[in-house]
This record gives sequence, structure tokens and C-alpha cells, in this order.
Amino acid sequence: MHEDIPAVTLPSGKEVPALGLGTWNMGETRSSADDEVKSIRKALDLGMTLVDTAEMYADGRSEEVVGTAIAGRRDEVFLVSKVYPWNASARGTAEACERSLTRLGTDHIDLYLLHWRGEHPLAETVAAFERLKSDGKIGNWGVSNFDTDDMEELFAVPEGKNCAANEVLYNLSRRGPEFSLLPWCQQHGVPLMAYSPIEQGRILKNHELIRIAKAYQATPAQLALAFLLDRDGVIAIPKSASVSRITENRGATDLEITEEDWTALDAAFPPPTRKTALEML
Ligand code: NDP
Repeated sequence: MHEDIPAVTLPSGKEVPALGLGTWNMGETRSSADDEVKSIRKALDLGMTLVDTAEMYADGRSEEVVGTAIAGRRDEVFLVSKVYPWNASARGTAEACERSLTRLGTDHIDLYLLHWRGEHPLAETVAAFERLKSDGKIGNWGVSNFDTDDMEELFAVPEGKNCAANEVLYNLSRRGPEFSLLPWCQQHGVPLMAYSPIEQGRILKNHELIRIAKAYQATPAQLALAFLLDRDGVIAIPKSASVSRITENRGATDLEITEEDWTALDAAFPPPTRKTALEML
């Protein structure tokens, strides 16, 4: 048995799990689809019921894999998808959402994000999102890859303050958001969704991460995720298409890290001392 997954509260009052599942690179090949469906279902079984996808991933086939996995279990899932910036016009957003709904095999997306900023004015995209909300096609809307100044600009447009999340690159080796973006989001009650939370596997070879994890009989991935789960208003969405690695990642909630080890992690992965531009993958 694991500790419960902590909940993060959206501005609407809706609670979602702070540990979910990413699906980038799923749907790329037909032969891997069965394993991907199995792993998504395993994540749901383990309570990692927030599933993140996008129209971009595998040209929509990630959404199809997610649709297959959640068929018959839609009510268990908090479904997140994203619109390409070049589709995020008044009409384009509505049309992209319809296509995503079809691929996902559902009549609503719980959280619909603008994948990154593009040429369409924020006010137009926000109005399109609000319309989708009133039509019941989406529950909430949010943004992705928005830095602090982008969030300020968003909050200045009509209904921009209804933004329910900002999904950004954040992990031990990318702590830039801690300087101003994370505090800003915490102050404004906007959850921060941490993408690439284990840096696509690259940080797992770090000697200090391995050393500290071992002291808890944990894995480096579990410690990297525990670091994010320790932060208020942060949701980590590790991707895995392996049932065993999803089970491993779920165990991140069970770690209780001492102050001494947090300090050691800070030494290995220093927090930012000045504002740097938000990084993107
Ligand atoms: P992650 O940091 O989640 O790493 C995923 C990689 O790590 C995969 O190759 C996976 O392989 C492997 N992995 C997962 N768990 C373990 C483990 N316990 N031990 C060893 N390896 C492991 O990277 P992502 O870039 O996929 O980010 C997560 C999600 O965030 C994406 O899938 C996507 O949903 C979202 N995202 C959003 C972006 C945006 O612009 N909004 C940009 C990038 C990501 P395997 O599957 O074989 O287990």
C-alpha cells in the first residue's frame, strides 16, 4: 500500500492528484499501443488519474491511445489536452477541440491548455476557451510554457484570471521557475504542472540523486518526483509506457525526506539566484 497521492486544488475548487501521467511519444507506433494502453490503465488503478496529452503528440495518435485506455473509465479520469498555438483562434480552438474530443472518445476535456504562445491574441484564445466551457466541451482551461510576464499579460485580458493551470518545464535540474513563476502561481492560486519531471530520464544518472535515493531504499526517479510533490500547488506528470516504471513512480509519495537530505539535494541541484527565461522542451 502507498501513501495517498496529495491533492492540488484548482481555482474552481476541483481537486486533482499531484501525481499524474504524461503521454508524449505514445501512439508513435502501432506495435507499442497495447503496452501504452496497459500502462495508462495501470496509472488509473494506482490513482494517477490525471492524464496529460495533446493534439501534437504523435499527430493525435497519443489522444487515440488515451481514448482507448479510458474507454469505460471516463469518470475516473481528469483529462488534460492541448491546442496548438496556430489553431488557437476563435474558430480554430473550437475545431481543434472537436477533433481532440473525437480522438479521445469523450464529450468533454477536463482541462484544455494553450500549448505555447503563438500569433493569436490571448484575448481571442481566452474567449474561445470560455465559449467551450459554457458549451460543456471543457471543464477548465489553462496555458503551457507561460513565464511570469506572460501570466501577467494573461491576467490582464478579459476573463484571463480564469486560467486553471500553467504547464511548464520544471524538475531538479530545471529549477528556474522557483525564482518568480512558481511563487507567482502560488500567490494567484494557479497550479503549476511540472512537465518532464525526471528530465526525460537524464537526471537519473546523477550520483548525488542516486546516493540520497538509496538511503531511502528508493530509486532516483522516485526522489526526483518526491521533490516536486513536496511543493505546494505543483502537479508532476511523469510519462511512462511501462507498467513497472509507473508502479515505481507511484511510490514517490512514500518518501519522507529529512531536512539534511533536502539541503544535500539543493547543493547538487542549486535553486536559482536570479530570474532566467523559462526553458522549454
Ligand atoms: P519525463 O521526465 O516524464 O520522462 C519520460 C521518460 O523517462 C520516458 O522515456 C520514460 O520511458 C522514462 N521513465 C519514466 N519513468 C521512469 C523511471 N522510473 N525510471 C527510468 N525511466 C523512466 O519526460 P516527458 O518529456 O515525457 O514529460 C512528461 C510529460 O509532460 C509528457 O509526456 C507530456 O505529457 C508533458 N510535456 C508537456 C510539454 C509542454 O510543452 N506542455 C513538453 C514536454 C512534456 P518509458 O516510457 O519507457 O518508461
